[in-house]
Amino acid sequence: MQTHTQFDVIIVGGSFAGLAAGMALGRALRKVLIIDSGNPCNKQTPYSHNFMTQDGMPPQEISTIARQQVEKYPTVRLMSGMAVTISKTRTGFKLLTKANEIFTSKKLVFATGIKDILPDIPGLADCWGISVLHCPYCHGYEVKGQKTGILGNGDYGFEFSSLIANWTNDLTLYTNGKSTLTDAQILKLKDHKIKIIEEELLQLDHSNGYVHSIILKNGRKAPVKALYTRTPFMQHCGIPELLGCKLTTEGYIQVDNSYKTTIPGVFACGDNSSRMRTVANAVAAGTITGMMVNKELIEDSFLSLKKSKMKIIIVGATGTMGTHLAGVFEKEHEVIKAASHGGDIQVDITSTESIKYFFKQVGTFDALISTAGPTYVGPWKTLTEKEFRKGVEGKMMGQINLVLIGQHYIKPKGSFTLISGALTYEPQLNFANASAANGAVDAFVRAAAIELGNGIRINAVSPTVIENSPQYFPYFPGDIPVTMQQLEYGFRKSVFGANTGQIIKPY
Ligand SMILES: Cc1cc2nc3c(=O)[nH]c(=O)nc-3n(C[C@H](O)[C@H](O)[C@H](O)COP(=O)(O)OP(=O)(O)OC[C@H]3O[C@@H](n4cnc5c(N)ncnc54)[C@H](O)[C@@H]3O)c2cc1C
Repeated sequence: MQTHTQFDVIIVGGSFAGLAAGMALGRALRKVLIIDSGNPCNKQTPYSHNFMTQDGMPPQEISTIARQQVEKYPTVRLMSGMAVTISKTRTGFKLLTKANEIFTSKKLVFATGIKDILPDIPGLADCWGISVLHCPYCHGYEVKGQKTGILGNGDYGFEFSSLIANWTNDLTLYTNGKSTLTDAQILKLKDHKIKIIEEELLQLDHSNGYVHSIILKNGRKAPVKALYTRTPFMQHCGIPELLGCKLTTEGYIQVDNSYKTTIPGVFACGDNSSRMRTVANAVAAGTITGMMVNKELIEDSFLSLKKSKMKIIIVGATGTMGTHLAGVFEKEHEVIKAASHGGDIQVDITSTESIKYFFKQVGTFDALISTAGPTYVGPWKTLTEKEFRKGVEGKMMGQINLVLIGQHYIKPKGSFTLISGALTYEPQLNFANASAANGAVDAFVRAAAIELGNGIRINAVSPTVIENSPQYFPYFPGDIPVTMQQLEYGFRKSVFGANTGQIIKPY
């Protein structure tokens, strides 16, 4: 079993209605699959009429041209095949074909047509659509004035006779058994010189579907050039019902003015949902359905888009602070977790090349949070330049470089939030390197804030020791540790607030 890519829309049925829906959706740049089993209701009809610009064309030729035009749209895929089951998924629908292929989509259109249930009269099926006709608007003109029969009884037989009398004066109503016409109806038919024959039909005598005569059970032969009948029908495809789509009492799929069925995300168009059985109507319904499906897709995405998600980079995302912030922010936003090891993507902030490569990979973003600040912790007396450089190249220059390079990728009105610390103004033993780096970061933030354009903001969060780092408590005697929530609020203030150039003290 093969699973294929997700489509925006799957259209089951690729005849007139399905192709029209596919064209509208292809023109709306939607990724569409049209699957068709190649069995349209009019396939036996030599010529199709009453469809502007294609009047008198063989129906297959009309649909071949339609297919060629629809196939021009690169987002539309046409395939021959039979849909056998469709199930709902969390995000849409999953279709299984007879060839065991699986396709998924957000929306579903049924353009599956109907199946005529022809009376069991030998010869009639052979003549269906050729000289046994369902509709005078499609074929009446071609047999106008000819000897014509109507197969029908009761009210339906009467009404059909009055309609067909518009095209010929030589009309006979075959009731195929005892008449159920009222006396008034019989009188009216007689007034119009429409004959009534109650004898049952035995078979149709025809050559290649062109009827010569109706052979009655009493052996009589009644010559005709055309026989009209309206047949019962069934849905060509049972899947809509299985999915839960309601049918009307007549047996059509129930749709509203937007061709939506009673199942959300499922549409139906053409013969399967309309009494107006013409190519023109199927094309019109398909076109409008395509537009309505696209409208619904737009409503699902563009219009109902909640307050847009931000793309937030957290550098230092695997550390104590970064892990907490990532966990909180990724509930509402797209968070890119960056770290020297692990995370979604690696970056060494002490290397300019690494930072450049990092931003190239990430692309544009809305906010950058840095909780990365390697510094040297150790006694003053043995402190060397090399050790001191750890904080200079790490916490200070590393973060400054994130801004210098990141400013070319950040979106207008985006924000940078760096990490500094209370050691700037409250030094502690062993932290000279961190104090200096923090002070430089704070000074950089204030300076950068007045130079960054495009509404881009920059702040630093400056905590004292944090509650999740108890190993540092002894170095900060008397300091009440900052809770993770206070820390989070400090970063929230910077990322979602309006401040810039601020040193935010989350305590
Ligand atoms: C005999 C006859 C003659 C007609 N002559 C005319 C005429 O001259 N002029 C005119 O305007 N109208 C005519 N009509 C009416 C016209 O043919 C229909 O209105 C039109 O074909 C409806 O188009 P549709 O796309 O809704 O359905 P259809 O054309 O019936 O197409 C339905 C498609 O769905 C496919 N399908 C169904 N189930 C599945 C499935 N599970 N998986 C994949 N594919 C599936 C079928 O194979 C078929 O290709 C005629 C109708 C008949 C019956």
